[in-house]
Amino acid sequence: MKIKLYWQVLIAMVLGITFALIFKEQALIAKPLGTIFMRLLKMIIVPLIIFSITSGVINLGKNIGRVGAKTFGYYLLTSLIAIVIGLTLANLIKPGVGIDLGSVATEFDPALLSTPSSPFDIIIRMIPLNPLAAAVEGDILGIIFWCIVFGSVIPQLPKKHRLVLNQFFNAGFEAMMILTKAVIIFLPIGVFGLISTAVATTGFELFKGVAMYMVTITIGLTLHAFVILPVIFFLFTRINPIKHYRAIAPAMAAAFSTSSSGATLPVTMDCVETNAGVSNKISSFVLPLGATINMDGTALYECAGVLFIAQALGFDLSFTQQLIIVITAFLASVGAAAIPSAGLVMIFIVLDAVGLGNHPGAALIVGTMLAVDRPLDMYRTVVNITSDSIGAVIVAKSEGEKDLYPNQK
Ligand code: ASP
Repeated sequence: MKIKLYWQVLIAMVLGITFALIFKEQALIAKPLGTIFMRLLKMIIVPLIIFSITSGVINLGKNIGRVGAKTFGYYLLTSLIAIVIGLTLANLIKPGVGIDLGSVATEFDPALLSTPSSPFDIIIRMIPLNPLAAAVEGDILGIIFWCIVFGSVIPQLPKKHRLVLNQFFNAGFEAMMILTKAVIIFLPIGVFGLISTAVATTGFELFKGVAMYMVTITIGLTLHAFVILPVIFFLFTRINPIKHYRAIAPAMAAAFSTSSSGATLPVTMDCVETNAGVSNKISSFVLPLGATINMDGTALYECAGVLFIAQALGFDLSFTQQLIIVITAFLASVGAAAIPSAGLVMIFIVLDAVGLGNHPGAALIVGTMLAVDRPLDMYRTVVNITSDSIGAVIVAKSEGEKDLYPNQK
């Protein structure tokens, strides 16, 4: 009997944790397994995004405007809801008030964190100066912008040329999906390597000073992923959300172990197409876009994280300042790269917007947050891809697709 992929992954997780707890540092012997798997996933990302977005835009043809508007509308809505959850929880729980970061904060070098550019730069940066350079350097926002623009002129070509390019991008996309399926076979082995490494390298001492901060973010992420998103899903599709969570379980596990929506994208696409039954036309447009710009978990985290820092520094932020945080947290989540800890680095953008960016204490606290970021990053990446996948199903359903969740009738 063939064991379902999500069971395989779950078993790999449990084995990975047990292995690391028993063998401690020696468990790092499994690290190469995780590294090899990560490299395989990363190897696919750029060509997968190029082929899937371009073929998605071509296949959507005249419907691109409508589908695009729905997709962006959904992404904006869920990100803002996530931010409001973060804002509310941080104000209620007040995780930063009266904490003593002394011992933990001094152990880290804040210089490790580079300061990113301003919120407007995120929008400017989307336009690549040279699309080929963007592809070579893995500048995903730039690649996406180019593929949407390029893909949308192809339907206007005379038939002879149009067919050549249609076939080229559709064939390339199919090849990428076959490659993806081949890599996914190794998911349990990769998860084992990644999880055992994460557990073996993170000490538990560290977490005490910032426990309330971690609790606040965890409650927020849980609320968003397992209450708000299922409700939104049900309201729009009238389908039992459990079906969806079952369909995307392998992608959630991949997000949890890789901490990267980008690296998880191949798995997310496979789950949404094969298990959730969303057409390739919709998923190949909605998912790569979502992996890059729709990060609900990150958005929630930016907002709650900055409030935490402000509280720890003894600042009481006004209503206007909190509104600024909401807006910049959204932009920061759009601009955050789909890689591990990207969200944490973007926190400086939000801090800058309320004038705390240059506060020496802020850098120190961010240093501490970096040290304990791994588990939070794993969880917010799960939330990020869960929201993308739900968006894909909602858009597919609204476009009249019927054969959803074919294996769960
Ligand atoms: N690691 C997250 C992701 O790839 C981004 C973040 O750091 O919040 O989705």
